[in-house]
Amino acid sequence: MKILCLVITFLGLLLAVVFGFAGINQKDAAKKYLADAENLAEIQKGYEAEIGELEQKIAELSPEKETLTVKKEYLEEMARYRTEKTAFLTFDDGPSTNTLKILDILKQYDIKATFFVVASKLDNLASLQALQRMADEGHTIAIHAYNHVYSDLYQSKDAFFADFDKASALIEEKTGKKPEIARLPGGTYSAWQFCQQYGGDGAIFDEIMDEFEKRNIMVADWNVDSEDWNSATTAAAATENIVSGARKRLSGEYKTALILMHDFSNTIASLENTIGRLKGMGFSFETLHNGGYYYRQK
Ligand SMILES: [Zn+2]
Repeated sequence: MKILCLVITFLGLLLAVVFGFAGINQKDAAKKYLADAENLAEIQKGYEAEIGELEQKIAELSPEKETLTVKKEYLEEMARYRTEKTAFLTFDDGPSTNTLKILDILKQYDIKATFFVVASKLDNLASLQALQRMADEGHTIAIHAYNHVYSDLYQSKDAFFADFDKASALIEEKTGKKPEIARLPGGTYSAWQFCQQYGGDGAIFDEIMDEFEKRNIMVADWNVDSEDWNSATTAAAATENIVSGARKRLSGEYKTALILMHDFSNTIASLENTIGRLKGMGFSFETLHNGGYYYRQK
């Protein structure tokens, strides 16, 4: 009996010791776990801070990256124009019923062109249809003016942009897209002269150009003139003017023919012939885009 009591007591003590140690071990493990968790949280915080800093650096560099990408694309494009014969067909002073016929011909040859719109002409169904087709069929819609009246436009910078903004707002309303390219009525050289004539100061021209720069709107003239604006120019003569003008461009640095045409009936009559001749010379066709190729007389 005594022995049994001793054995039970011994076992009790043993169990107490074992569980006691286990308790201590559990406490230690819990402590260690908490310490590890705290450490991990610290490490996590460190990573988060580092990620935050990197994200900020990326955000800071992103405009620079964008600028450099645009510059790179521009240089690549210009390099291409040194060897690739490229024609930019541009049509001023529309839209009208004539534009629908021009669009039909362009569609037939799968050529995209640039249209410099006179927005006051968007007052009838045919013109509105033409504008919609330009947008739907992948052409570039650019601004020429609301009212093509030199004596009003070139009185002052404010007069010019009052007209321009009216044109821009109407085109945006009809197409859902704000045009980013402009051609000054008369072209830049005549515009400068008209500023002197109607505004009494050539500096008005510089103010207009500065404003365009500020607004990031590309101003483009032409370097090949069809002379279709002259009623004495026959359709055949318009094509010859374009072909000889384009040929001259091939001896220049860039093989680019930025061709001035209008929304006129003799333009329609010459267009297929003009396209055929330019293709025969090895030209391909592109539209103008903001930040890309342009030509200016002044
Ligand atoms: Zn014009």
